[in-house]
Amino acid sequence: MTITVRAAAKINLHLGVGRVRDDGFHPLDTVYQAVSLYDDVAVSVADADVLSVEAPPYIDVEGVPADGTNIAMRALAEAACGERHLVQIGKQIPVAGGMAGGSADGAAALLAHDRLHDLRQPDDALLAQAARLGSDVPFSLVGGTARGRGRGEVVEPIEDHGSWWWVAVPSDVGLSTPAVYRHFDELFPDAPEQPAEPRELLAALASREPVRLARALHNDLQEPAIDLRPELGTLIERGESEGALRGLVSGSGPTCVFLCDSQEGAMAVVAGLSESYDVVLPAVGPVAGAHVLP
Ligand code: ATP
Repeated sequence: MTITVRAAAKINLHLGVGRVRDDGFHPLDTVYQAVSLYDDVAVSVADADVLSVEAPPYIDVEGVPADGTNIAMRALAEAACGERHLVQIGKQIPVAGGMAGGSADGAAALLAHDRLHDLRQPDDALLAQAARLGSDVPFSLVGGTARGRGRGEVVEPIEDHGSWWWVAVPSDVGLSTPAVYRHFDELFPDAPEQPAEPRELLAALASREPVRLARALHNDLQEPAIDLRPELGTLIERGESEGALRGLVSGSGPTCVFLCDSQEGAMAVVAGLSESYDVVLPAVGPVAGAHVLP
């Protein structure tokens, strides 16, 4: 038997980052949205642990570890059932792109394992395993739109009746999340202990007005990411000149995302940016968290 679970990419609509703590972590106050770019993770029982990855050409498959360090394999080790597994990942989410592709695979593997062995663990138990795997993994289980605090692992769903259209432009070369945080520390040694709260963003989501949401988007990692990769600033300006309401670095980057006023608006931005960028992906959010495919 094979269980296949689909998990979505995320965009941080708000990413408030506080000063680094003594334990090396940054306190976060973030609003995530799951968007319609998906990884599918198929898990079955096997004689040995084996992992394979299939992906379209724009994905850097080389960047995905095929051994026990892959987060999907770490998820199965976390579940510790004593069985070995074949894991097949169908990737659509850019690697090291700031869209939590690894976290999506971790969440998908946890859920697939639970269903494969008919464990039917309560949500809280899966969320606790997810938090041990990484700070974005619990959100990948929950999906939709949600606020994340702490290291991102305390996830609280937010009512979001909007249908928000995005355009995502990944980069050929990933950007290391720890490197971007380190540069944040260099640029902002006096960052406040408490990360910025997403007050205006929550009001904008409730209004369902894309122009208002565009104004409220916020990412404290954008400046360090652009400082490390100035071409991201150029890309954001270009997307906005093609008609996007607002461009933003996604999480720690280097993927940039553009909020558009409608599906038609997103398609126009896709057409404009495609003249200069190889991979330009439309997406809509919010979409569901990790779920078993029929
Ligand atoms: P985030 O937005 O959560 O910071 P990201 O989208 O920037 O994450 P990922 O694609 O999740 O980055 O991958 C980060 C690193 O994790 C990769 O460079 C790779 O070495 C490692 N990795 C482990 N497992 C996976 C996986 N299943 N898919 C992608 N990368 C993985």
